[in-house]
Amino acid sequence: MRPTIHCHLVNDPFGDPGMYADIMFEGRALLFDIGDITALPPRKLLRVSHVFVSHAHMDHFAGFDHLLHLFLGRDKTLALFGPAGFIDRVGHKLHAYTWNVIRNYQGDLALAVTEVAEDGTLRRARFRSSQAFLRESMPDARMDGDLLASCGGLRVRCAVLDHATPCLGFAMEEPAHVNIWKNRLDAMGLAVGPWLRDLKRAVLDDLPAATPIGALRRSGDDTVAATLPLGALRGLAEVTAGQKIAYVVDVRYVPGNIGRIRQLALGADELFIECAFLQEDAEQAARKNHLTAWQAGRLARLSQVKRLVPFHFSTRYMDRGNVPGDEARTAFQETGGFRNQ
Ligand SMILES: [Zn+2]
Ligand SMILES: [Zn+2]
Repeated sequence: MRPTIHCHLVNDPFGDPGMYADIMFEGRALLFDIGDITALPPRKLLRVSHVFVSHAHMDHFAGFDHLLHLFLGRDKTLALFGPAGFIDRVGHKLHAYTWNVIRNYQGDLALAVTEVAEDGTLRRARFRSSQAFLRESMPDARMDGDLLASCGGLRVRCAVLDHATPCLGFAMEEPAHVNIWKNRLDAMGLAVGPWLRDLKRAVLDDLPAATPIGALRRSGDDTVAATLPLGALRGLAEVTAGQKIAYVVDVRYVPGNIGRIRQLALGADELFIECAFLQEDAEQAARKNHLTAWQAGRLARLSQVKRLVPFHFSTRYMDRGNVPGDEARTAFQETGGFRNQ
């Protein structure tokens, strides 16, 4: 099955952190963190429909102006998500500018901003260029479990993590795909038709074998309705798990975070994770509320992810090449017991 999410880092691992997720077949992209995003060409930025900001330290949020500048004058809604206090921060950024002529612009740019409180409350507000970006309050919502947003066919989950300030970790998930074997359909004398949608849904929902499915049977050149139990049709379908990609930056290596990250990233195909410091500088990492590369690798291993993407290396290691990445991979691949750190 073709992967439908293609993710890459916005900058090299020593640059500002950020991940661009191209959603194939939907003509859209999701952006995780907006520090320096000037490496992304405008045509890629203009595909972005949702922006997820882990926290508002400058290296994760300073690119807001660049994005705003590019989108201004366009008829478009951009959804932005961030931790507690995020709506005020977006409001402050917007109100640093003068908007006396913005009403003359043709396109109405709307920023739909959601902030996640630690208790799962979603506070929401909207800022529209047609209203000179005055804050418009929207009703609060609640997270459904850890589900933050649905973007087309994708779901984005989040965890509120501790970086001495709330910092959001994210996981993007595609739904499972169901494919129907055409040759098996033919062999059973069944015809293609809208009923296959119901069959796919029933398979995905794992309904009981006795569940009746309204099918179409071939009869000469015609088709006739037939009701068959799901159990008899189950073999027509093949289920392929959807992709899962997790993004975790700027967190302390403490039990609360470890448990939440594991839950968020469990079984992910890819985990993009910060490796700010080397384990030899673990004390400094703890003081600055960051992970070491070894801790990041261990988190990836605990979360049973398939692939690790280390990034957000401190520039102090710039002359040491990919040493932080190597340290993370070593911890990820260690087969013996974990070091007790
Ligand atoms: Zn950072
Ligand atoms: Zn930070």
